Parts: sequence; C-alpha cells; structure tokens
Amino acid sequence: MGRCSICGRPAAFAAEDGPLCAKHFTEWFEKRVRETILKYRMAEPGMRLCVGFSGGKDSTVLLTVLAKLLPETELIAVTVDEGISGYRDDTIAEAKRTVQALGVEHRILSFPGFCGKTLDELLEKHPEGACSVCGTLRRRILNTAAREMDADRIATGHCLDDEAQSIVMNYLRGDITRVTGQFNSNSADFFIPRIKPLCRSTERSVVAYGLVNKLLRPLHECPYTKYALRRDVRTWLGEQEYEHPGTLLKIAEGQEELLSRIQEKKEPKMLLHPCEICGEPTGNRICAACEKLNKILNE
Ligand code: SF4
Repeated sequence: MGRCSICGRPAAFAAEDGPLCAKHFTEWFEKRVRETILKYRMAEPGMRLCVGFSGGKDSTVLLTVLAKLLPETELIAVTVDEGISGYRDDTIAEAKRTVQALGVEHRILSFPGFCGKTLDELLEKHPEGACSVCGTLRRRILNTAAREMDADRIATGHCLDDEAQSIVMNYLRGDITRVTGQFNSNSADFFIPRIKPLCRSTERSVVAYGLVNKLLRPLHECPYTKYALRRDVRTWLGEQEYEHPGTLLKIAEGQEELLSRIQEKKEPKMLLHPCEICGEPTGNRICAACEKLNKILNE
C-alpha cells in the first residue's frame, strides 16, 4: 500500500485521495463522520441518543466514534437479543466489553421479552423469511425503547454500503413507498427520528477503523444471512464499486436528490435550446453527441 501521503509512515488504508497511516486515517475517518453529522443536523449538545448496538463491527465503530465526537450528547446503547443460537451470544459479549470500555449506559432487550419467542422459534417453519421478521421486530423494539427512554434520536450503524444496498433492494422489490420516501404524513408523531452517522462511510473504511483502533474481534456471521437478498446485492454492488469506484456514493446521493425533488415538488429547471454546433436540442451550450465527438476527434 506504500506510505502515508501526509507523513510518510507505513500506510494502513488506501483513501480516495491517497494512502494514509493509522493516525491520519483515524483523523480522516472521524472528520468524515463529523461532517456527515453536521451536514444532516443529526445531533446537538444536550440531546439523548438511543444507539442501536448489536456489538457487531458497524455498531461498535459507531458507538466508539459517537462517544469521541459528541461528548456533550447522552448516549444509551440498546442491544436487541433476537435469540439466534450460535451467533448473538458472542456479539452480546463483545457489546458488554465495548460499553464497559467507553463507560456508556447499556440496556439489553430481547425478542422473548417482546413476543415470548426467540427468532429461531419464530422461524421454525419458514427460515427463508428471517431478515424481514428480524428487521421488523428489531425496529419495533428499538423504537419503543427509544420512546420510553425519552430519546431525541435513534442512531444506527448503517454505512454507505448498507444505504446503497437498501436503495437497490427497494427497486428489486418494487417497493415504491420506500423508493419515493412517501410514508404516512404523520409518521413523525409515532416514530423517533433515525440518524445514520456512518451513512457516507464505506464498509471498508468502517472495518479498517475498527481494526486500526483495535475495537474488533472476529465474530461468526448470522446463520440466516444465506437467505438474505441483501447478501447477493452486497456481492454485486461490491463488484461494481471495485470496478467503478464511487458507485455506492452515486447511488446514495442520487436517492437523496430524488427524495428532495419529490419533497419540494421541484420541476426540472433545464430548458432545451439548439446546440451551437449542430442545432439539435440540448440542455447545454453544446449537445452530448457534439461534445463527445469533439473530445475524441481532438485527442
Ligand atoms: Fe437478523 Fe437477517 Fe441480520 Fe441475521 S442477517 S441478524 S436474521 S437481519
């Protein structure tokens, strides 16, 4: 990977604008999260944040960075134990270790406490629906917990990869409500607003931050992952990002622009007029065909 582009020490991470050593990568990562929090006005001093905290890599990095970046914000970590044998016990042990190190209040809630059954029991007949059942119940438990603790926001560890995957999955499922963000108009009365401070950080950088700062230990994958549509979308998008860097960000920013146009009912402002070269219609001074031909012929 070479040397850090800032100080010349051995590099630990290849950022878009050059390799970085552990120290400068940590600063770069935290700066990106801070900018995301500020840009989307996710938190203010004095707020109480309910942090969805599974003990996995994303939420461990999230809680650690929030504790560092938001010293004047009250953090309460909430772990939901779905009851997945051979998986969740290990992540809960990690979760306890992390909150102890950070000195953050920790609450553990469970599926049996909510509905009397573990996820394993609920899925006995139809394990293929695991993630849908799991996600729905987990969101419910987290929202109720956040309301009861009078939290201002629920913070989750979704990173840029998760965001892009969800957007693509909404299209694959034909879920127009989610694609257009047109939920019930009074949903804010019932749901605590969610924030995703890692939503502009790639999974690769989240994992690197966790490793460089010695926050992570190897954990098993959830046994139900094999049924998840997300797994296939993740593989495909990972290939696209590798071949065409920036794809994940374009998907996330494209969706953001779509939602803002829908919310503001923005009409496209672009008017067509004749291309200065060929006279065919274009929104720019020169049409795309002439621009491309010019570029190729003048190379
Ligand atoms: Fe739940 Fe699916 Fe994640 Fe497993 S992979 S924890 S079943 S959402």
